[in-house]
Amino acid sequence: MKRVLVVLVSLSVIVGFFSLKPEIGTPALAPSITVIDEIIQQVNEENLRAHICYLQSRDGGEFCNTEGSRWACDGAAIDRALEYAQQHFEKLGLKAERVPFSLYCRVGLSHNIEAILPGTESQQSVLITAHLDSTTFSISSGGMAPGADDNASGSSAVLEAARILSQYKFKHTIRFVLFTGEEQGLIGSRAYAGKLASEGVQILGVFNMDMIGYDSDSNGAFEIHAGTREGSVKLADLLVQTLTAYEIKLAPEVLEVGATGRSDHASFWNRGYPAVLVIEDSEYGETDDFNPYYHSTADTLDKLDLSYAKRIAQAVIGAAAQLAEPVQQKSFN
Ligand SMILES: [Zn+2]
Repeated sequence: MKRVLVVLVSLSVIVGFFSLKPEIGTPALAPSITVIDEIIQQVNEENLRAHICYLQSRDGGEFCNTEGSRWACDGAAIDRALEYAQQHFEKLGLKAERVPFSLYCRVGLSHNIEAILPGTESQQSVLITAHLDSTTFSISSGGMAPGADDNASGSSAVLEAARILSQYKFKHTIRFVLFTGEEQGLIGSRAYAGKLASEGVQILGVFNMDMIGYDSDSNGAFEIHAGTREGSVKLADLLVQTLTAYEIKLAPEVLEVGATGRSDHASFWNRGYPAVLVIEDSEYGETDDFNPYYHSTADTLDKLDLSYAKRIAQAVIGAAAQLAEPVQQKSFN
């Protein structure tokens, strides 16, 4: 399945390349295409690096140390990361809200954080999500869990998506959401998806990123876990089309029957919402380049390929922007 896909993608890159060139007698380049390309080109590797550096670090240590933790059972650790995300969203002029839920291993309330870019015409929502919390196989309070790949990488892409997309207006609403309590069993996202369902929020699609930075064989392979429902498969199609149309050099494998439910997208599947998991080449697909530092204190930035993370972020941000339908060129610089 993968090999066939790669061939198809390469072919359509060629077709897409020519079809994007305006020619005599053919319609001019659609304005939306220009905007999406502009959006994709703004994804910045150094921004991803800075976010991952902060998130993997212990407070008070040297810049970009690897001794931090975002273990959701440790209130001080995860709340510091939530504060970082909140300040980032608010600096962009987005309304950011901590959405509470209870987690069995923490006294008091735990929180996800959500920032909203309201649609010009609709409250139907496109979600760009990742889990902010981290863990190791032997964590205890005060212990290290830098979680650079799992999942400061996906979180950094959500923060970067907010920076870029908040400069534009979209017909539909975009929600940038960072979950916590993922490592305890998708607890935060289950509460959040339940809240949206109880409020009757219509969701056009959820793009959930969980581990997007490890590519030791540098082959650009990554996985889109769609499951078998039509709405989710369409999101996977949109991602693959985005790679092709904007010449993002990655080799996708779309998993339908073999898709995993082991990340926060599953909380949305359980509510009947269309959702996909975007993840590096894991043990699930036809090939396996699984990060050997997973859930260890060695899951640090130096093991990651940020050019690869950037390309995955470009695909997700580009696809999400298309689904939300841009209505305006950049509103400010
Ligand atoms: Zn994870």
